[in-house]
Amino acid sequence: MVDRGLFCNRTLNLRAIRAIGYDMDYTLVEYRVDAFERRVFEYALERFISMGWPVDELRFDPSMVARGLVIDTELGNVVKANRFGFVKKAMHGTRSLDFNHQRQAYAHSTVELAEPRWVFLNTLFALSEGCLYAQLVDLLDQGRLEGVRSYSELYRKVRAAVDAQHFEGKLKAEIVSDPERYVILDPDAALTLLDQRAAGKKLLLITNSDWHYTSFMMAYAYDRFLPSGMTWRDLFELVIVSARKPDFFTSRNPFFEVATPEGLLKPCIEPLHSGHAYYGGSASQVEAQMGLSGDEILYVGDHMFGDVHVSKSVLRWRTALILRELEGEVAALEAFRGQELELAARMEEKEALEARLSQSRVDLQRLRVGYGPAPALDEKALEAQIQEYRNSLRALDMEIAPIAKAAMELTNSRWGLLMRAGNDKSHLARQVERYADVYTSRVSNFLKSTPHIYLRSARGSLPHDPSAPGGPPLAPTLE
Ligand code: IMP
Ligand code: MG
Repeated sequence: MVDRGLFCNRTLNLRAIRAIGYDMDYTLVEYRVDAFERRVFEYALERFISMGWPVDELRFDPSMVARGLVIDTELGNVVKANRFGFVKKAMHGTRSLDFNHQRQAYAHSTVELAEPRWVFLNTLFALSEGCLYAQLVDLLDQGRLEGVRSYSELYRKVRAAVDAQHFEGKLKAEIVSDPERYVILDPDAALTLLDQRAAGKKLLLITNSDWHYTSFMMAYAYDRFLPSGMTWRDLFELVIVSARKPDFFTSRNPFFEVATPEGLLKPCIEPLHSGHAYYGGSASQVEAQMGLSGDEILYVGDHMFGDVHVSKSVLRWRTALILRELEGEVAALEAFRGQELELAARMEEKEALEARLSQSRVDLQRLRVGYGPAPALDEKALEAQIQEYRNSLRALDMEIAPIAKAAMELTNSRWGLLMRAGNDKSHLARQVERYADVYTSRVSNFLKSTPHIYLRSARGSLPHDPSAPGGPPLAPTLE
C-alpha cells in the first residue's frame, strides 16, 4: 500500500543502525486527534471562561488548521508558506484572506521561524492551539476580550492555557481512565519493535511524557501484543521519561533513575544500566555511555522541531518523521490521479497556445514598427489570429479552473495538502526534506521493510534535467 510507504529523503541503511530511539506520543502511541485535541480545547475554554472571556460559542474544528501551518502572532493570522517562506494562503481569525489582502499583508515579509513572530504548528498537539487562537482573534477584533492589547499578547495567553492542560493532570487522568476513547491501537507496532530488537538493534524510548503516563500508555498499547510473560519494558534497552526535548539534544541535564514502579527518583551516579528507566538526561550522555556515534542512531518522532530538526542538526542522528496525515494525503492523491493527468494535459495545451499567441504578438509588433523578418500573415490576419488564440485560451481556462481548484483543495478545502503550497513544496515539506532522512505515516510501516532494509533516496531532479517531466502542476509525490 503506497500510503503506508517509507519515503526516503536520504539513503538509510538500517543494517548500519545500532540503536533506534522512539518518541512516545503520536509515535509509538497514536491518538484519536479529534478526541484528544477537542479535550485540550475544551479545558482551555474553561480557563478562559473563569477569566470572564465570552468563549461559550467557540467550537473545536480539527480542519480549521493543520500541521505545518504557521501562526503570525503579529497580525493575528494563520498562514501557509511555501518552501521559500513566501505566504501562499492566509486566514485572519477564522476568515480566509483574499489574494489582495494577503499580498498587502505579506508583500514585504517572509516566514522566518527563528523570529518569535512566527509559530510553526509542529505536531498534531498544535491543532487545539491554532483553532483556539483563530477564533479568539475574531473575538479580539470585535472588542470582546477586555485587557488584551495585541494579537501577540493573545497568543501568549492561548499558549499558556494549552500548555497548562498538558501539565495540570486532569487531561492525562481522563485519558488514562478511558484510553479506548483516545488511543488507536496498532498491533503491528509491537511486532515491528520485536523484529528490530531481535535483529540486534538497541531500542530506546525517549519521551517528554512523565513516568506515570508513559508506563500506563506503553503497557496499554503494547503489552497485549507481546509474547506472554513479556512487557513493554523488555523491549527497551533504556527508557527515558520527562526528557525535555528539544533541550535533551542540546544540553547536558543530569539523569535520575526511576527507582520504583511508582516513579520514585534517585540520583544517577553510575553508568546507565540496560533495561532501566531514567528521568531527564541528555542525548550526548546516551551516545557516550552506549559507545554510539550519531550516524548509528535512528530517532523516530512526530515533532518536526523537537524530535527531528534538533536531533539532526545538532547531533547528526539519523531521523524518521511520523506524519500520520500522510495516509489521507496519499490516498487523496491516488484518487485524484485521473484528474491530475487531465490537468497536466490541459496545461500542456495551454502552454502551447500561449507560445503561439506570444509569437503572433511579436510578429504583429515587428510588422507595425517595421523591423525584422516579414511575417507570413498581414496585419489584419495576425489580429484575427491573436483574437482566436485568446478565445481558445479563455475556453481552456474554464476547463482548467475547476480541476485546479479541486487539486488545491485536496484533503482540506481551506489549506490543501500538507506538503504542497500550490504547485510548489510547502514550508513543512522543505523542513521534512531537510531534517527527516525518512518520513512515514506510522511506526509499523517499518515492519514490512524489515530491520535489514537499505532505503535509497531517489535521484533529486532539477528543472534543467532532460528527464525532468515538463510536468503536471501538482506532481503526485515529492521528488
Ligand atoms: P513525546 O511526544 O512522547 O515526547 O511526549 C509529548 C508530551 O508533551 C506529552 O506528554 C504531551 O502531553 C506533552 N505536550 C504536548 N504539547 C504540549 C504543550 O504545548 N505543552 C506542554 N506539554 C505538551
Ligand atoms: Mg511525540
